[in-house]
Amino acid sequence: MADKFDYDLFVIGGGSGGVRAARVAASEHGAKVALAEEDRYGGTCVIRGCVPKKLMVFASEYARVPEEAAAYGWDFRPGPFDWHGFKGKLHGELDRLEGIYRKLLDGAGVEMFDQRAVIKDAHTVELSDGTTKRAKHILIATGGAPVRPDLPNADLGIVSDDIFHLEQLPKSMLIIGGGYIACEFACIMNGLGVEVTQYYRGAQVLRGFDEEARGLVAESMRDSGIDLHVGSNIVEMTRVADRKDGPQPTASDASMGASTLDASAASDDGDVAPNRSGPIWVKSTNGGEKVFDTVLFATGRNPSTKDMGLEDVGVKLGRRGEIVVNEYSQTDVPSIYAIGDVTDRVNLTPVAIREGMAFVQTVFGGEPTPVDHELIPSAIFTQPEMGTVGMSEEDARDAEEVEIYCTSFKPMQTSFAGASDRVLMKLVVSKETRVVLGCHIVAPNAGELIQMVGIAVKAGLTKEQFDATCAVHPTMSEELVTMRNPTRTT
Ligand code: NDP
Repeated sequence: MADKFDYDLFVIGGGSGGVRAARVAASEHGAKVALAEEDRYGGTCVIRGCVPKKLMVFASEYARVPEEAAAYGWDFRPGPFDWHGFKGKLHGELDRLEGIYRKLLDGAGVEMFDQRAVIKDAHTVELSDGTTKRAKHILIATGGAPVRPDLPNADLGIVSDDIFHLEQLPKSMLIIGGGYIACEFACIMNGLGVEVTQYYRGAQVLRGFDEEARGLVAESMRDSGIDLHVGSNIVEMTRVADRKDGPQPTASDASMGASTLDASAASDDGDVAPNRSGPIWVKSTNGGEKVFDTVLFATGRNPSTKDMGLEDVGVKLGRRGEIVVNEYSQTDVPSIYAIGDVTDRVNLTPVAIREGMAFVQTVFGGEPTPVDHELIPSAIFTQPEMGTVGMSEEDARDAEEVEIYCTSFKPMQTSFAGASDRVLMKLVVSKETRVVLGCHIVAPNAGELIQMVGIAVKAGLTKEQFDATCAVHPTMSEELVTMRNPTRTT
């Protein structure tokens, strides 16, 4: 390494992508690496996203067990959910995982700075204690953060980061948004016994996904008790306490139920623990007024690039503040790279990790490696889950003639218990090449299933190759290799 640099690589951001890149550059390529993290190691995924969310999904799914188990001869008595007990264990687990991340970096010889870092020039970062460090390459992996809509009093609502720190579970919650986070937390909170209302401004939640699949998710969410309103948004919000002289919502107001009145009354009595802001009065676009203990804004995330000095040194930012990079994750400043959510390409943990690995291979492995963003499988951890890879029916139809193979049925396990749950298995097939262009699954454990189907779709297998695979019986997913006739051709 030339003397003029303190490091070969300085990484800003200790989330999944940044940690992986730092660790592999140091341990596999012998690079001298430093990493600065202003918050906790593990980033969004480990500390305030995928991991705690999935543990909450597991927690919420136990609510159904006693009823279902009864059909199978068991006598499990439902009991109350202990949020405090669970929360304590949850944070213990996050501490453990953060410790592992630190240990991995330490073991690889990466120097860690628990501070904010900003860019001073093409090779220099400044830490919040005022020291500067020079590096041959700088990698920005600062991720993103939730955004609230531009609405007066929006700070009365919480965002997904706050969910894991609630003092007590609210009795009622309004969730704004119809994306991954809104739908996942609607299901989680509903499972934990919270009365959930969800407003989504568009015609159907989970915009961009296969229409039939998201339709079934929405239907299942409603069946499970979530009060989901589409074509609806929040227009006004204020604390109930601050409306003393204003018109108070009554039970006769269009969409206000007695339970929400009870919730606010109970709060006044101290029966419901005060949450971050106390009961909140909300007015929606359709004129309805309601009171909720908590309002959750799940209205998207913005890249974390503010006040980092990026534009001053010539790093180009996009409309939403994302760092603009080329296929090698390189910015307009050749020594500065960026990976993960801060680039707003495909905002998923495994993608950030792959971008980090490709960056290391390009810069330290001497092998220019573009990031492959094609055919990325993903899952939405609603209840039931949605697993998806490739093109939706709608997108494929716009591109070429396709055959759709689709089946929806009551799965054996819950059907035996008398539940009305339905699952969906769908293949989108090119009429000309027979290649499976997309697969969409709505079912328990769809995330696990789509990981496997993702291999076949990524490999470009044809419908006939799917069919040549023997079914595993009896399973839900055997339908993926036994659907003989197209449901429709377009
Ligand atoms: P999304 O972009 O998926 O969804 C944001 C939602 O908020 C959309 O429904 C959007 O509506 C709505 N919205 C945006 N602005 C407003 C507004 N001003 N008023 C009302 N509604 C608004 O963001 P999320 O925060 O849910 O998730 C962020 C990203 O994180 C995802 O895209 C995904 O990449 C990742 N993620 C992945 C998960 C997984 O893999 N399971 C889980 C959680 C997050 P509209 O559709 O009309 O734009």
